[in-house]
Amino acid sequence: MRRSLVAGNWKMNGTRGSVQALLDGVKSGAVDGVDIVVCPAFVHVGIAAQALEGTAVALGGQNLCDEAGPGAFTGEVSGDMLLDMGCRYAIVGHSERRSLYGESDALVATKFVLADKVGLTPILCVGELLKDREAGVTEAVIDRQLNAVFAQEGGLAALANAVIAYEPVWAIGTGLTATPEQAQAVHAFIRRRLAEHDEVMASGIRILYGGSVKSSNANDIFAQADIDGGLIGGASLQADEFLKICQAAASAA
Ligand code: PEP
Repeated sequence: MRRSLVAGNWKMNGTRGSVQALLDGVKSGAVDGVDIVVCPAFVHVGIAAQALEGTAVALGGQNLCDEAGPGAFTGEVSGDMLLDMGCRYAIVGHSERRSLYGESDALVATKFVLADKVGLTPILCVGELLKDREAGVTEAVIDRQLNAVFAQEGGLAALANAVIAYEPVWAIGTGLTATPEQAQAVHAFIRRRLAEHDEVMASGIRILYGGSVKSSNANDIFAQADIDGGLIGGASLQADEFLKICQAAASAA
């Protein structure tokens, strides 16, 4: 039985005040029966670590450097630094990193393995563009993104301790959501692909759905057999709404 997980990706949002208020809201209402993770911007990780100390809410980074460091990598943050600050997770390969910052499948795979190596649980994002879906190549795109991980030394081993997030790019921040059936079909495809490499890992790994999840659609999405929770963007910026989504994931388990 896979335990549900809901992760909030706060992206480049917040001030010290608003982040503190959001943290207070999330930790005061944290629900049982689901793993909850919040991923603030790097500059807010310290505040978050303090606020979440002793609670069941875990902390994650939104990205990490592809170099282990330490060293001369101006502007970068290493996996070790995230771990040292209290993070337990790191998102890698979010579609905004891939599309806005040119992160290739190979670079994402490097970060994925590095996160695992330092002791973080990587949350690997995969997903197709609208044009890919319309062209009928959704599975080929996901395959390509997964194959980069399999091709990376340590990639298969790292999957044993990882989380995958299927995020159709056309559904991120757009208000469009994949139907539960569309999402389930891709989740099942991912799990089948993983099983070709390691059946035990494939049946145990948590595959989250991301893309305009809200409290109003969370129940239907999380009810699907291969959907083990969500990666939540916009709706994670309001504590009440985020907690309702966490509750939906707990109830679906
Ligand atoms: C995301 O950025 O990972 C995401 C799923 O965003 P949203 O929930 O806003 O679509």
